[in-house]
Amino acid sequence: MKKNLKICIFIIILICSVVGAAYVIINKHAQNKAAEEARRAAEIAAQQEAARQAAEEAAAKAREEQIAAEKDEWYLILVNSDNAMPDDFDIETADVEDGYVIDSRVQEPLKEMLADCRDAGYSPRIISTFRTRETQQYLYDHTANKADTAIPGHSEHECGLAADIIDAASLGWADPLIADQEDMPAQKWLMQHCHEYGFILRYPKDKEDVTKIIYEPWHYRYVGKKHAAAIMQSGICLEEYLSNMETYYDPE
Ligand SMILES: [Zn+2]
Repeated sequence: MKKNLKICIFIIILICSVVGAAYVIINKHAQNKAAEEARRAAEIAAQQEAARQAAEEAAAKAREEQIAAEKDEWYLILVNSDNAMPDDFDIETADVEDGYVIDSRVQEPLKEMLADCRDAGYSPRIISTFRTRETQQYLYDHTANKADTAIPGHSEHECGLAADIIDAASLGWADPLIADQEDMPAQKWLMQHCHEYGFILRYPKDKEDVTKIIYEPWHYRYVGKKHAAAIMQSGICLEEYLSNMETYYDPE
């Protein structure tokens, strides 16, 4: 019996040792596996983050390039006192009405805007569109106020992208080109709807310090529909828009 007891105890100890060792081994293995899984998860997360960042950077760069390319489009040319039109500027004009001509690419939107304004019951009247260098020179030489007249080579009228439009009822005024033009019915309609045709009111109120041109509630400039909407809805002028276009314009 004594011998059997010893064997029994030995067997129990042996079993306990085996179970204990197995437990330690299994536990260790599980720990290693968990650590490995955690390491792999961290590695995958790092790869995903790097891919996300790379995609984000590529998208930002593509957007930047799209905006830069858009800025080079003919309809976004910036012509003001600091920026002359290029010497090699080439223009093809087309008739609008009453002998007034404009850049042929702007002919349709301008005619459409005038027609819709008339359909709405108003009387818009063009008083200036495309001007040759000679005409701009003449105007500049003969104006009483040189500060409010663009230097030849610096006028949007020479680019063929601008039109001065007044309400026909103001034709009898001593000078229809005054701020009161904004109260005329045709002008109110034009200011409200011009962006739908790709035009902006180029020299807004309270932007004289930026445009260096007085408030002109008659001078409309073509920039294309999407830019016109962004500019008119933001209440900014073209200079502000072009210097900070990524804030206002989404190329998508
Ligand atoms: Zn003008």
